[in-house]
Amino acid sequence: MLMETGLDYPEIREQVARLCDGFPGTYWRRLEAEGAYPEAFVEALTESGYLAALIPEAFGGAGLPLRAAAVILETIHAQGCSAAACHAQMYTMGTLLRHGSPAQQARYLPAIARGELRLQAFGVSEPGSGSDTPALRTRAVRDGDHYVVTGQKIWTSRALHSDLMLLLVRTTPVEDCRKRSDGLTVLLVDLRDALGQGLSIRPIETMINHQTTEIFIDGLKVPAENVIGEAGSGFRYILDGMNAERILLAGEALGDGRYFIERAVAYAKERVVFGRLIGQNQGIQFPLARARVQLDAADLMARQAAALFDAGEPCGGAANSAKLLTSEAAWQAAEVCFQTFGGFAFAKEYDIERKWRECRLFQTAPVSTNMILAYVAQTVLGLPRGY
Ligand SMILES: Cc1cc2nc3c(=O)[nH]c(=O)nc-3n(C[C@H](O)[C@H](O)[C@H](O)COP(=O)(O)OP(=O)(O)OC[C@H]3O[C@@H](n4cnc5c(N)ncnc54)[C@H](O)[C@@H]3O)c2cc1C
Repeated sequence: MLMETGLDYPEIREQVARLCDGFPGTYWRRLEAEGAYPEAFVEALTESGYLAALIPEAFGGAGLPLRAAAVILETIHAQGCSAAACHAQMYTMGTLLRHGSPAQQARYLPAIARGELRLQAFGVSEPGSGSDTPALRTRAVRDGDHYVVTGQKIWTSRALHSDLMLLLVRTTPVEDCRKRSDGLTVLLVDLRDALGQGLSIRPIETMINHQTTEIFIDGLKVPAENVIGEAGSGFRYILDGMNAERILLAGEALGDGRYFIERAVAYAKERVVFGRLIGQNQGIQFPLARARVQLDAADLMARQAAALFDAGEPCGGAANSAKLLTSEAAWQAAEVCFQTFGGFAFAKEYDIERKWRECRLFQTAPVSTNMILAYVAQTVLGLPRGY
């Protein structure tokens, strides 16, 4: 159930909520116990066209604004589900859409829109580079009509459930570049051809059922025609997609926040201790009220960021602020909810501990809070670069 009326895109919210009703807590708990991918959920989202929301109609998608896509993700999370298994199918194609050749777009985008191809793996992070992306070491060397790639990626989520992967590699040694961020290239890797042919994938066990992996690459051949845009300009292409990603994930964090507040309020209205409802105690009420106020404020920033993005205006500051505020407001709501449920928060069947664990990620990935603060300090406030 939605927390309040008057929210934008009410039809989308209602339809997505109805779809999510088919995937209750028992579904997610079973998957987590088995370490399994939510295939049926992803299938349902694909069939309903939600994952093609941002693909232009000319390529068979819905051509919706970014705000509508953020609302889809928000609703999924507000219903107790998780879009982490497939959200990248919505936006990873943006690099192809903005920088791919007409031939690449025609070949891949309609099939991605139909859900026949999954492009939801994005290999940027490496064990040695961390947040310092230009320090990545995966190398691609041109050899005739293809590149030969060697290196390692970490935290490449969904790679075992994706047909295609965008891979950021270094094609020009850093010492030959004017800037450290030059000389990086985006390759479109067909994982179906690559697996066992110079590429292997190893799942990483994590505290959430996130399907994230390590990728080992040794002599993988990638056709030169699979370079997206210009070789050497890859870092700029990756940056181009970051505002959209931040705004979409802000939607997910907001959804989590709504879930926690709704669940906690319902529980506070029914749990009787010392002969009265726990929700009668201001010690329970006030943290919930504060969490709600902060979530609403974060929501406004997320809407502002999406409005700027959809209007084609610069939105880096707003997108980063939205990501920071929503991740922190959601986490605050998670903590308050956890406390409101007392010991029952620890019982798996209540789903609070699962959502609480899942919600923690927003402060770390896809960008950690400090990196957002560094962006605001250096780009918005004009302070000197700290690194
Ligand atoms: C579940 C999960 C899924 C992920 N999925 C993907 C994916 O699909 N594709 C992908 O490419 N990556 C993915 N990532 C990686 C994610 O983007 C990184 O974990 C994140 O960017 C942080 O990098 P790091 O872990 O190397 O931390 P580090 O860069 O090692 O940083 C560690 C801490 O130090 C802080 N820090 C570092 N430098 C500074 C500084 N100069 N000033 C202040 N603080 C600093 C950071 O903010 C952080 O808090 C995923 C990560 C996780 C956990």
